[in-house]
Amino acid sequence: MEKLEKYILENGQVINGKILKVDTFLNHQVDPQIMDCIGKEFYHYFKKYPINKIVTIETSGIAPALMCAFQFQVPLVFIKKAIPSTMSEAYSAKVFSFTKNKTYQISVSKEFLNSDDHILFIDDFLANGEAFAGVEKICQEANATIEGVGIVIDKVFQKGHRIIKEKGYDIYSLAMIESLNDNKIVFKK
Ligand code: 5GP
Repeated sequence: MEKLEKYILENGQVINGKILKVDTFLNHQVDPQIMDCIGKEFYHYFKKYPINKIVTIETSGIAPALMCAFQFQVPLVFIKKAIPSTMSEAYSAKVFSFTKNKTYQISVSKEFLNSDDHILFIDDFLANGEAFAGVEKICQEANATIEGVGIVIDKVFQKGHRIIKEKGYDIYSLAMIESLNDNKIVFKK
């Protein structure tokens, strides 16, 4: 998605040749115009599937996932990074965070995921695929079907993309980054 690549080049900051900071439009401040384009692009690609729910993990996946849910006219469920005391029955999984270098638990109330669900998973970034693996485990427990995986910024030089593709999922990434070496952003063409 050319417009997104332009945003990334104009606003992105590379940290240690591995992490991309896009706080001006995605990870801290959110730009509604580009989020609208992102939601529409995911909708055009994934509308061939019988999707009845969009799923993401809080926090930064919520903005693009909500715009996508709006296009599909279906609910968005965001998986929580902690178990709230108000959640009685939940599906949970452990996820290792690449950026924070720690393991945390993700949970979703059983009320919001079940065997009738055909979900589209949306996330802001894909690195090693740890977050997706957690969501996959939760969906398997709930007997929900994952119809597709939509990623805003996919760092294809890490292993997540390959793993998800090899498992047979339909993965669509809007910006694919081939390298952040020397703190320079290089897109995969
Ligand atoms: P994964 O679970 O695929 O290893 O990593 C994806 C998650 O880690 C995303 O949900 C995102 O929160 C975070 N992440 C991974 N790489 C980056 C990055 O380069 N920049 C930012 N801002 N977040 C990242």
